[in-house]
Amino acid sequence: MFLGHLALGFAAKRITPRVSLAMLLLAALWADALWPVLVALGIEQVAIEPGNTTFTPLNFISYPYSHSLATLAVWGLLIGVAYRAIAGGRRTVWVLSALVLSHWLLDVVTHRPDMPLYPNGPKFGLELWRSVPLTMLIEILMYGAGLWLYARATQPRDAVGKWGLVGLVALLMLAYLANAFGSAPPTVDALWIAALSGLALLTALAWWVDRHRDAAAV
Ligand SMILES: [Zn+2]
Repeated sequence: MFLGHLALGFAAKRITPRVSLAMLLLAALWADALWPVLVALGIEQVAIEPGNTTFTPLNFISYPYSHSLATLAVWGLLIGVAYRAIAGGRRTVWVLSALVLSHWLLDVVTHRPDMPLYPNGPKFGLELWRSVPLTMLIEILMYGAGLWLYARATQPRDAVGKWGLVGLVALLMLAYLANAFGSAPPTVDALWIAALSGLALLTALAWWVDRHRDAAAV
């Protein structure tokens, strides 16, 4: 899942308007941010097997630290507490923790039963990915709802805040479609490099756009 995670990050702005959108998206995508690093280090394993599921060519052989419920609970708490210690803010600990943890639930919906409860523990997955149209429908609906909440919780301060958001939203949608319909990455190295650079770009753009938007007076 990709747009579904982003949707929760966008939506969370309503609850914690002072936290940058970049931080909220990063929390929702934390599992997928950690994963390419652990794959690069050889700690977690993935294989590229086109046809593995109808939606993704990736076979997630093992990702106990980035994608288990137990480790995500710990990561979530660490990130929430660290953020709170540095930047303060009400509700930041539980909102950031919940975003990190939500990744597991959403991935369980889409993945094959490869999502561990804890490292080496039982694995879950409801395999929504068997249906490309259904996966896309659910993710795009979630994305729309998340964006709607974000757009209502904030207002543009200038043109960057307005058109930057439009650009960011479109870019993420394009990345999603390219991922769904484009060709499989040639190698695992190409995969983690692309994942990390994409994430860095997404975080930077979200931070920039969000800085040009104010909390809406609701
Ligand atoms: Zn994931």
